[in-house]
Amino acid sequence: MSTDVTKLRDQLDAVDHRVVQALAERFWIVEKLARFKAGTDVSNLRDFAREEEVLTRLVDLGKSEGLDDSFVTRLYREIMDHSLRLQREFLAGRDNPERLTAETCVVAYQGTDGAYSHLAAAKHFGSMKGETRYEGLDTFRSVAEAVQSGNASYGVLPVENTTAGSINEVYDLLAECHLWIVGEEIQAVDHCLAATADAPLSHIRRVLSHPQALAQCTRFLSTLRDCRVEPYTDTAMAARKVRDDGDPTQAAIASEEAVRRFGLSVIKRRINDQRENYTRFFVVAGKPATYRQSVPCKTSVVLVVNHESGALASCLDILASHGLNLTKIESRPRPNSPWEYLFYVDFEGNVADENVAEALRKVTAHTNYLKALGSYPALTTERAKPARPRRAAGEKGKATTKNDAIVEDRSLQAASDRETYKIASRATRQEDTEVVIGTVKIGGPRPVIIAGPCSVESRDQIMACARAVRDQGGDILRGGCFKPRTSPYSFQGLGFEGLDLLEEAGREFDLPIVTEVLHPADVEAVADKSNLLQVGARNMQNFALLKAIGQVDCPVILKRGMMSSIDEWLSAAEHMLSHGNQQVILCERGIRTFETATRSTLDLSAVPVVRERTHLPVIVDPSHACGVRRWVPKMAAAALASGAHGVMVEIHPKPEQPMTDGQQALTFEAFERMMRDIGGGEPAVKDCVSTA
Ligand code: PEP
Ligand code: MN
Repeated sequence: MSTDVTKLRDQLDAVDHRVVQALAERFWIVEKLARFKAGTDVSNLRDFAREEEVLTRLVDLGKSEGLDDSFVTRLYREIMDHSLRLQREFLAGRDNPERLTAETCVVAYQGTDGAYSHLAAAKHFGSMKGETRYEGLDTFRSVAEAVQSGNASYGVLPVENTTAGSINEVYDLLAECHLWIVGEEIQAVDHCLAATADAPLSHIRRVLSHPQALAQCTRFLSTLRDCRVEPYTDTAMAARKVRDDGDPTQAAIASEEAVRRFGLSVIKRRINDQRENYTRFFVVAGKPATYRQSVPCKTSVVLVVNHESGALASCLDILASHGLNLTKIESRPRPNSPWEYLFYVDFEGNVADENVAEALRKVTAHTNYLKALGSYPALTTERAKPARPRRAAGEKGKATTKNDAIVEDRSLQAASDRETYKIASRATRQEDTEVVIGTVKIGGPRPVIIAGPCSVESRDQIMACARAVRDQGGDILRGGCFKPRTSPYSFQGLGFEGLDLLEEAGREFDLPIVTEVLHPADVEAVADKSNLLQVGARNMQNFALLKAIGQVDCPVILKRGMMSSIDEWLSAAEHMLSHGNQQVILCERGIRTFETATRSTLDLSAVPVVRERTHLPVIVDPSHACGVRRWVPKMAAAALASGAHGVMVEIHPKPEQPMTDGQQALTFEAFERMMRDIGGGEPAVKDCVSTA
């Protein structure tokens, strides 16, 4: 090895040493802070605004040092999460002294080393002081029994998965055993396919995994040819068997951690059907734990309601009237009592709070059995969401959607309501509908910015666009994968391969994604990957497509057909609403007129008209309307002034050479300027003429 390399490695080692020392110092300060907070009356252990502030500052610092901001954000989220856990653990130790006296803390879970339950346990107890031993047991029941008998201090049991739903056996054990819930943990379940060698997919003849994991990857598995799929005891054991057998045609589905632990190579990542796949675990103990008010908690109870009509409603009413937000309700058959049910109820609150205790006392009046299962720090509530750095988006927040034009003259509105749409009509719903996509809300006062290329062309191209959207404070990344083209000889899009790239870019830059779906048969598969669907202008009256989209639970942008009246547009929306999907966003993108100077004529007056007639959100796409990039920013600003809830624009890293719609794509610089202008910055009339 050359001495140069050795020298550089020495330097790296020295830097790593400093990084670890700095982290240790940071956590030492965090502990001092926890000690201080323990002695004072802080109202909330977590200060969300401060987290945002710190992230913003560090991201800016990182940028000035040449570090990527999503890297800094990811890293610091992890560090802050750990700090919060340390503080929570410190307070829990203060308030539950037995937590500290145990010599070795034994944590029982079901499965083997590397299984998801083990990962969740390690995540949860990683911040605990002292020695922790993890013990994998065969069944959920043996975990419950180990805790009950005192052989284990804690048990970690899965209660629900966001794809597969509740784990009934664990719920039944909670009713039956004397266990207390003292914590919850959320574990991301990202499956990968792995084998002994980095072989192509087509070489795999046998796949092994836990039946739950196989069920969560059904769609991917159905694409494998000549391959047997077999259930196995658990995901980690499947990985171990594949390693032990040493047969390169065998593969296992397991977590990346398990795969790494057994020295296997990943053949394909993220093969689960649903892109967001999480399991929630309960941490149980033999005694309840006490958490102080500054730690936001959830409480779980199990109850059997009296045989009177409305008893369950009365119980829920009591929680509501005490301001306790219900987060989950689950029913299970009551043992030995056919057609009677146990209800498991989770709500935000802590039994240590008199308001919660009083609510539970009142609830008992309507039940013939009520057992509190415990109060524990909440990880799934709105308040537990990770902080984001405040980006340019903060500035953009200055712009607001104009609300003045809405429904001033109701008689006029009533007269204009046509029989052809009812659910979409303002007459049916007076308030504006907000469509929620993760943390983004379309239809509220804050305008939403959607940007991205016309077509996804390559990994580099979509990554560059995603970075630009994120850097400028955009909210959603667009990218066409299935392109409706006038000529059959033009580029038709990268299809599902493009969608995989778009999904990767969205994940990397923490942006929801939107893509057009062309065929009814593709709707489900596209909806599984994309946060938002788009119906293109050419398909506005493709009723089979509208019906298929109406049947999935996925928000959709409905573009106005270029030859369609407002009534026809709203009726097209009604097709989706009437089939069940209420998350429809309208998009004005220009209509065909005699004018040929622009690609289409942007009908901005449609915005106030539509906002009067419907409660659905309305956005504007000035790119396809203008067809020429230099007019786009001005029309985007005009769209927001007209009351649109957002704009969608096309951008491209090299707009002179895109596969589709090159003339109208904004350069990244022009996009940056547009974002500044609509953000309430100085109006730049000059820019609009000269934008390249
Ligand atoms: C697009 O958004 O890329 C597109 C094809 O738009 P439209 O359907 O409005 O032409
Ligand atoms: Mn386009």
